[in-house]
Amino acid sequence: MTVFLLVTTFLPMMTTDSLSGSRFAVKELPYAYEALAPHVSAETMHYHHDRHYAGYVGKLNELVIDTPFADQPLEDIVQSADGALYNNAAQAWNHELFFEQLSPQPQREPSPELRAAIDRDFGSLDALRTRMNQAAAGLFGSGWVWLATDSDGHLSILAEPNAGNPLRHGLIPLLGLDVWEHAYYIDYRNRRADAVAALWNVIDWACVSDRYARR
Ligand code: MN
Repeated sequence: MTVFLLVTTFLPMMTTDSLSGSRFAVKELPYAYEALAPHVSAETMHYHHDRHYAGYVGKLNELVIDTPFADQPLEDIVQSADGALYNNAAQAWNHELFFEQLSPQPQREPSPELRAAIDRDFGSLDALRTRMNQAAAGLFGSGWVWLATDSDGHLSILAEPNAGNPLRHGLIPLLGLDVWEHAYYIDYRNRRADAVAALWNVIDWACVSDRYARR
């Protein structure tokens, strides 16, 4: 009887909590807004994190209510949802990964394990960067260029339109380049290649290597 009462009492409370829009929280930046300058300006970081990313999280919190995904982890929503719910869930997930992998004091080299995989699959770290730069330049419209791995550690580069994410292909994202105009237009206007070239200066290979080790 007690258990039954707990269930009937607490389930509506969880729904109420969802209605408040607090199911998913905006993750704070792990560094100051101005910390990535001059490569990424404080103004860009404010717009990118506080408006665009936070906007996706807010919309996700609205859209997820009363769906079969209402109590599912974000990663499961990214893998299985469709339409606007998928778009906003994936953009929330992508931006969490994106901001986390940047640092004002980045480690410049991958771990020995990841470095060996990069050399094996692309030839060199420079060759990987060149391939990802080319993919960014060639991606029409908004999207993401990803370095991803399978569970065996084989690497691949994916150029995905819009919110596209390697999780949808059964792959594990290691590094994501956001090539939506909102990521660079304040600092670089239409010069996407310059924005991506600058971004490499703040990519923390310690973070990327940790993701590879956890695959
Ligand atoms: Mn973005």
